Amino acid sequence: MKIGIPKEIYKGEKRVAIIPKIATHLLKEGHELFIEAGAGEKACFPDAEYKQAGAVIVTDTQLLYSGIEVIMKIQPPQKHELEMLKNGSTYIGFLSSALTDDFFKLMSEKSITSFAMEFIPRISRSQSMDALSSMASIAGYRAVLIAAQYLGKFFPLMMTAAGTIPPARVLVVGAGVAGLQAIATARRLGARVEAFDTRPAVKEQVESLGAQFVEMELVADAETSTGYAKEMTEEFMKREHEIIGDRAAQNHVVITTAQLFGKRAPILITEEIVKKMQKGSVIIDLAAEQGGNCEITEPGKNICKHGVTICGVLNLPSTLPIDASAMYSRNITEFFKHLYMAEDRKLDFEDKITKNSCVTYNGKIVNDHVRKAIWKGVDT
Ligand code: NAD
Repeated sequence: MKIGIPKEIYKGEKRVAIIPKIATHLLKEGHELFIEAGAGEKACFPDAEYKQAGAVIVTDTQLLYSGIEVIMKIQPPQKHELEMLKNGSTYIGFLSSALTDDFFKLMSEKSITSFAMEFIPRISRSQSMDALSSMASIAGYRAVLIAAQYLGKFFPLMMTAAGTIPPARVLVVGAGVAGLQAIATARRLGARVEAFDTRPAVKEQVESLGAQFVEMELVADAETSTGYAKEMTEEFMKREHEIIGDRAAQNHVVITTAQLFGKRAPILITEEIVKKMQKGSVIIDLAAEQGGNCEITEPGKNICKHGVTICGVLNLPSTLPIDASAMYSRNITEFFKHLYMAEDRKLDFEDKITKNSCVTYNGKIVNDHVRKAIWKGVDT
């Protein structure tokens, strides 16, 4: 197939959807690869490396879009990018924030088949394609490094001639992919770590990383049938605020990662809790993109309030563009191979991965989640 890799144009984005090593792999499988000039530059993959792999460098963006069968991208497409898509072509990338009326109109007019990387179900068969997890893992790692940069204290225990300095204490709220990576990273830096999650199933994983699990009278029913966290009752949230408030005051760093699929992130750190934290503490709010887990987070900004630094971090994977591109590259290529594994390249809509991730097929909406408008926060 003719595959096109455009340059990412989202502000501050440094990643590229396919790195030269993976380009070689796709070319060996008989595909043709067209890459926009400079697409890999910010991730330290120069055009020369793609050329050497056998890809064609295209300087005219419109030409790239009009000559291919499949576009592979990372950031959701902007309207003018969609307008450049060739009739009947396929688009693969993150899509959620692009799912507007304009999107569906253009998909329909141009009979586009589109796949959303974030809709790939998190099942064991799809692990190698799970870009959401790859990127969340980078975010969890980076969150700890940012915290270490802002905290006016050492992370590890330091025994010096000037005295013994106890290790920093880190609280991670939400022990999913990002949270577990944050725990592992903070532990590697020598911090004392504790973590809280509504899903009791993660206690063992938290403990296996050397962190302490914050116990609470957990609700037995914390997961949806698809394995995502459920929205908690008001009573539960009240109790959670008490517990987190108590733990946050004992820790120097709080990393929050709690999210609810398709909804605004739950508020776990109220301004009252921030007021009770030690001066100089740091909150890294990984859920800033979904509104934030901290009541006073300002997405995209680092603010200092009540003596606490609150970082509303956005797009952390782009701050590690070399490895983030390599991981995404592998994920999207495995996904592409999965979609078109049949000899006649016919999509198999009986397959859960294909079915869940396909948003439009030949211009028509085929995705149940999208139909029910889950990304707008409508309960399903
Ligand atoms: P995940 O679904 O794997 O983990 C989220 C965890 O939060 C789950 O374990 C869930 O049980 C827990 N949770 C939900 N409600 C909770 C509550 N009330 N109290 C405690 N825990 C609760 O998600 P993930 O892939 O690890 O992503 C975590 C967050 O990081 C998301 O908000 C995601 O959007 C964000 N993220 C941010 C960036 C960035 O650059 N800022 C990049 C990637 C991911």
